[in-house]
Amino acid sequence: MTKKKVKLKLKSNAKKPLIIISAVIIVIIIIVAFYFNRIGELKNLGYSEVAAKSIIFKFKYSYVMGIGENKTLNAAFESNDYLEDNLDDYAKIDYDDQEHLISNINKLLDKGYSDNEVSLIISKGDDESVSDFAKRDKVKYIEEFLSIDFAKLENFDRYVEYQDKENDDAETTVLYVNMDFDKEDYVDPLVIDKFDDYVLVNKHRQLSSDYVPDDLVTIDEEYVKADGDVEIERNVAKAFYDMAEAASKDGMELMVSSGYRSYEDQEEITNTYLELYGQNYVDNYVAKPGFSEHQTAMSLDIASKSVDTFVNSDEYVWMMDNAYKYGFILRYPRSKEDITGYKCEAWHYRYVGKKIAKYIHDNNITYDEYYVMFLDN
Ligand SMILES: [Zn+2]
Repeated sequence: MTKKKVKLKLKSNAKKPLIIISAVIIVIIIIVAFYFNRIGELKNLGYSEVAAKSIIFKFKYSYVMGIGENKTLNAAFESNDYLEDNLDDYAKIDYDDQEHLISNINKLLDKGYSDNEVSLIISKGDDESVSDFAKRDKVKYIEEFLSIDFAKLENFDRYVEYQDKENDDAETTVLYVNMDFDKEDYVDPLVIDKFDDYVLVNKHRQLSSDYVPDDLVTIDEEYVKADGDVEIERNVAKAFYDMAEAASKDGMELMVSSGYRSYEDQEEITNTYLELYGQNYVDNYVAKPGFSEHQTAMSLDIASKSVDTFVNSDEYVWMMDNAYKYGFILRYPRSKEDITGYKCEAWHYRYVGKKIAKYIHDNNITYDEYYVMFLDN
């Protein structure tokens, strides 16, 4: 009797742990399935695996699902710099692919900048300039200047200084400072050494001596009004031939008198004029080596076959009306001498392609302005 009882007891004791273990396994399976399901949902929404895990472990799954896809939140949950206090701000600040994005957002919020100001600071700078800016004390006029599309964070102090002096509106201030109007001509110029069809050269932007165009061709002799060959970029030559053909249908005879000039050519010209007329003349009338747009091989001096002074020719009038249709712009117009820094050169045309040429023509702006507004990133 006693023996039997013990046996039964043993049996029932053996069953209990089995049930508990099974229950625990089932619960674990449910939790794991639940976990992977949520990770999947977050990934479908655009969050990375690392961010999704962090979201779940920080118990922010419902919060994030309520917000939806958000690249700044994703970066925040991926980052070791994540601060729970700034969660709502992360969700409202525009994303930019910068290494120290979250740590810089934290610092800027800590300084007292609004979410919109932080977005502007980040969007108008790169990782380095934003990191530097985040170390500074809070400044005023962030929205005033940085909400201009082409504003640059690195120029911020110059905007404030220039505005203080010139009292222009914010957009003009940003435009002029980005064009280096707050600097003396030829002082501390940007030196460009990488070839680019859209390169901007002026009294603040110099080409290095080894800036050489990559695809030069010689202009057909029948179109040349100069001693010796004229070289130019291949696509500029093609556009010129198209334009000359169209002009000839209107009875015009377009020629070229100058195209590509190397750094060394310009050096030679400078030295020749220096010997003939002295330093003062050279300073005022001769482009220093690197500062001539002819070194880009994107510029042509246009001539008329029959009339020697170009401004007196029908070709000059035809060019003013039609050049933009073939991708050329008058680079130094009379009405824009203050902007270009050059006296009008009625013959000097720059190739920029049809789309940009039409915009510049329709809006009556210079290439300097166009470049700063749309190409200078
Ligand atoms: Zn020229």
